[in-house]
Amino acid sequence: MIYIVPHLLNLIKFLNKILFKLQCFLVDRYMHNSPSDNPVSEKYRTLRVDAMPIVEQRQLYDYRHLLNEYLKKHGKPLKPVNRRSKFLPPSGTVCPICGAPYEYIYDNAGGRGQLGCKVCKSTFYPDKAYLEKLTLKCPHCGKPLQKKRDRKQFFVYTCVNKRCPFYVRNLTSMSRDEKADFEKNPYKYKLHYYYRVFDIELDSLKDDPHIPSAVDLSRIRNPQYVLGLVLTYHINYGLSTRQTASILWDIHNIKISHQTVANYASSAARVIKPYIDNYPYELSDSVSVCGDETYIKILGKKYYVFFIMDAVKKIITSYSIFLNRDGVSAIKAIYSTLSKFRKLPENLTLIFDGNPIYVLAQHFFAQHGIHFDVKQVIGLTNKDEVSKEYRWLKQIIERLNRTFKGVYKGKNGFNSFERANEFMALFAAFFNFLRRHSALGYNVPVSIPELDNIPDMPSKWLKLLRLSYDYLEKLQVSV
Ligand SMILES: [Zn+2]
Ligand SMILES: [Zn+2]
Repeated sequence: MIYIVPHLLNLIKFLNKILFKLQCFLVDRYMHNSPSDNPVSEKYRTLRVDAMPIVEQRQLYDYRHLLNEYLKKHGKPLKPVNRRSKFLPPSGTVCPICGAPYEYIYDNAGGRGQLGCKVCKSTFYPDKAYLEKLTLKCPHCGKPLQKKRDRKQFFVYTCVNKRCPFYVRNLTSMSRDEKADFEKNPYKYKLHYYYRVFDIELDSLKDDPHIPSAVDLSRIRNPQYVLGLVLTYHINYGLSTRQTASILWDIHNIKISHQTVANYASSAARVIKPYIDNYPYELSDSVSVCGDETYIKILGKKYYVFFIMDAVKKIITSYSIFLNRDGVSAIKAIYSTLSKFRKLPENLTLIFDGNPIYVLAQHFFAQHGIHFDVKQVIGLTNKDEVSKEYRWLKQIIERLNRTFKGVYKGKNGFNSFERANEFMALFAAFFNFLRRHSALGYNVPVSIPELDNIPDMPSKWLKLLRLSYDYLEKLQVSV
């Protein structure tokens, strides 16, 4: 009997091999259709956007508990690190996994940044502690990704699973020439799933105090009121520039070109943006901040709008446009919202969909001492308690999205990133200061006393522009 075991083992190995080949063949056969899944050589790497990894909280420990266990097991306490190496960890470093204090932390890589913890035996990079508290898994096979630091001081997470469908698919879809080239230059090909982790500085998120130059709406040829009409039709009612020009002619007997409509909107946006971005909003301090993404087209290409709002007071706090739906975009959008709080509420909770980018962003801010909770409302039905509790907030922001789509519809996309941004600023100004909400008893979300007594919308727009001008003037004096 004992002699059969090695044979059996060999047989199992052999069968395994065959299964793997078969798997390759099947994947090749049936999953080959999607062009985006082809292996990507070096040349095209930067153009490719991978699926997001699965992000999970890593199991954390309490070093006091671990030290106690050590004492029980060995009959003596664990000694702090004996510092003989000339490389010392940055002073004050604490283990992100178990909280062990500095005396248990040692240099693990000859001064190249990686540290180790003697208590929980984990290794970590102190400047990326927020990532150390997470486990990233391959979206294609679910296996934990391996973390490496590449030459540019970035983290790259790679799936090294040889049976990962993503890898198998890439491997089997190579042409004969590619395969030959791959043998010689394997580094040129990206066959394994990998995910690059963003590396951004908190300071880089601060906006430059952008002061528009040489926009003077007071010198436009038409009477001011025309400008108010243009903004009302173009923004409030979502008419295209051509429709706006046409309605001005048909109803008001005012002749201006669609290009003039576009110019007016563009100038107005540049004046209004600093005002609405720096307005001292009074945001709710309860759990009510909620975010969602929608998309727009610029020159035919898809871009993402990250809306974040105070869903109770209906105030938009972020409305930025990003090319990617990734961690960096989420961080920037959240930053724009956080900067609108005069003081961050103690237990600030942000509600998002199930996208892992928000968890990455949360950990990024925690690393910089900015703490808030993230709750994720997942799917369309309430399968979990969190989704049940917060879905109503999600529904409010979905309504904002619908309002936005209604206004955006007439635009048929934008022809530049700048135009798109200008439109977003005007939309946010309209939504926060001019649009009456039935849920707010037909009041506007942010009521400015100067606008309250003005009866018609074009005049309200003009007043809002005037206030924005005054704000800019003050800003210019102070700079
Ligand atoms: Zn530790
Ligand atoms: Zn994988």
